Amino acid sequence: MKANLKSLLVAAVLISSIFNFSAKVPDEGMFPLSELSRAGLKQAGLKISEKDIYNPGQIGLVDALVQVSGCSGSFISPNGLVITNHHCAFSAVQLASTPEHNYLENGFVAHSRQQEIEAKGLTIRITDSYEDVSDKILSAVAQVSDPVERIQIINKKRKELASDAEQKDPSIKAEVSEMFIGKSYVLFRYKTIEDVRLVYIPRQDIGEFGGETDNWVWPRHTGDFSFLRAYVAPDGSSAKYSKNNVPYQPKKHLKINPKGVDENDFVFILGYPGRTFRHRPYQYLEYQQQYLLPFTSELYDFQNQQLYNAGKNDKAIELALATRIKRNANVMKNYRGKLKGLRNIDLVKQKQQEDQALAEFIAKSLDLKARYGTLLQDIDAHYKTVFTDAEKELWFNNLYSGIRSIHIARLLNSFKDALAKYPAKQQRSKIFTLNIAKVKEQLEKIYESYHAEADKNIAKHQFALAYQFKDQNTVSTIQRKNFSNVEAAQAYIEKAIDQSRINDKNKLFSEVLNDAESLVAYQDELLTLQKQFAEEIEPFSTELIRREGVLNKLMADYVAVKETFQSKNFIPDANSTLRLTFGYIKGYSPADATYMTPFTTIKGLIEKGNSGDAEFRYPEAIKQAWLAKNFGAYYKKEIDDVPVNILYNMDTTGGNSGSPIMNAYGELIGVNFDRAYDATINDFAWNESYSRSIGVDIRYVLWIADKIDNAQFILKEIGI
Ligand code: ASP
Repeated sequence: MKANLKSLLVAAVLISSIFNFSAKVPDEGMFPLSELSRAGLKQAGLKISEKDIYNPGQIGLVDALVQVSGCSGSFISPNGLVITNHHCAFSAVQLASTPEHNYLENGFVAHSRQQEIEAKGLTIRITDSYEDVSDKILSAVAQVSDPVERIQIINKKRKELASDAEQKDPSIKAEVSEMFIGKSYVLFRYKTIEDVRLVYIPRQDIGEFGGETDNWVWPRHTGDFSFLRAYVAPDGSSAKYSKNNVPYQPKKHLKINPKGVDENDFVFILGYPGRTFRHRPYQYLEYQQQYLLPFTSELYDFQNQQLYNAGKNDKAIELALATRIKRNANVMKNYRGKLKGLRNIDLVKQKQQEDQALAEFIAKSLDLKARYGTLLQDIDAHYKTVFTDAEKELWFNNLYSGIRSIHIARLLNSFKDALAKYPAKQQRSKIFTLNIAKVKEQLEKIYESYHAEADKNIAKHQFALAYQFKDQNTVSTIQRKNFSNVEAAQAYIEKAIDQSRINDKNKLFSEVLNDAESLVAYQDELLTLQKQFAEEIEPFSTELIRREGVLNKLMADYVAVKETFQSKNFIPDANSTLRLTFGYIKGYSPADATYMTPFTTIKGLIEKGNSGDAEFRYPEAIKQAWLAKNFGAYYKKEIDDVPVNILYNMDTTGGNSGSPIMNAYGELIGVNFDRAYDATINDFAWNESYSRSIGVDIRYVLWIADKIDNAQFILKEIGI
């Protein structure tokens, strides 16, 4: 990272003195396909041609890459078999599980295609092609100075270009992604696969070994892998789940190398990293450190305590809430890691110094001064406004995701409002019939993780919190309720939920949602409350859109002038589009007097199990196979064991979960799934000294599949 040039240079000297080859020091870099030639892959150790990875119009490794809902994955057979993480399939496994057939806990192995089961909620996307459309978008706003108008035109243009592309080729979905805020845009065309099936999911005490204690932690021993299959209609087109569908035949699939990798080996990852925030001014980090990270992590912590309690003595409830809890916990710990990291290296101050140097650079040139003279003051003024009501914004942002009953009320209110637009009964009835299935489907999704007691406790907490907000942060709807303490908030929300049909899904569906008139006539306190929130949010949302418009232009200028200052073109922040990153299998020193090596072993897994902690329980068969030294071909001599997880200095973030880790020949040797605790701040600033990502070694995947789960059907398909 630019801010830490010194440490990069130190690392460069270190690396070239350790290895006897002219390795390129991996810089921060989630390279888009258009920038691959800038990565210097050959110099870094790639043994195949860059064109084997990506060659427009030809088939390359990128054609084996998929996006699985929010994660990444790759095809590993000509019959649509995909490898990704256990945690990426988690929600689908949870939905397929019942207390009697608990696939989450016990795992699931299909021994034939017929046994594969629907992975509800999972879809697969494949990047088909892309095209830079920055000129088309920016020329439309060249003469527009009003920030709100500017962002509206940009967003409209993005939608227009995407829908034009979809009309030209109805088999694709198109999206225009913002690469640099307000500055560059790329149109991506995607193929979508809607029928995805579970093929092989290891049991929870393998796939989630170490649980939340070990999440975002190295050393790690988690078998975070799963196998899915993509299905399409017999004519090859995308189709919803159907028995008649056939396995999808990808243009390309990755070859697995069961020999794995060694320390210091060159490796690279292709995947769909979600979001990073590296090209932002220091005030953005201040916002994270002071507001977003503490607010969200504390709120999720509270929510999860309620959700845990709700499922404590009931397996079915525990299962139903599992995905919600896991997502909250994952974000919570990531945010705490970021907070620690930000403080450890005082990143805000570092960025502030960078911005100061930029201000001096601008001030020295008449030309730059004319164009950007007020830029840094304008940025400062923008964030001052953001800070004044940051709590209120965060509170509203978490209202519906936190309190499910109010989320349900929002859906009901908006359906009611849509019906109320039609004066005639007959028309209302028609609209109702047309939409009710979709509305019920959305409601079902929310109800999946709704639990009345937990919801009441969460609402009480969030209301009491808002009641404390002052001045610009005031939430008027809550203030008007005159809660004098938490008990008053509790009494209010308990009554509102108890007396609402929302609290009883069956009654809501049969009594309120049975026809248009009963829905229009239905009213209760939760619906009234949600309406009040919505009315309060409306002017606030308009203000937030205005701010987004202002920021869009400021960030475009900020990046442009910073590139001039540093005489280089930056790599755009991650934005869920296909990227490549490279580096080496490598340990590190995260704390004083500590050095972490880059492989973990089954021995280490068993040692963790000796703690007796439930999160470190593992199948007895693992111990037996290990004691018998039944390592098969998956043994690594240097560690006298089967390697379980691996550590490397590549540049990854959320969304890279499930990404294939490839060796210098483009063969799959592992699956990425996490980062070390100290590396969570690489979303703000990448640095070789602390940025380490974690993957599951392919030798452990194969060992578990072969020796523990007897998943021979899959091993045969992938040629092992
Ligand atoms: N665990 C993350 C994910 O789910 C990966 C990461 O953030 O490094 O995508």
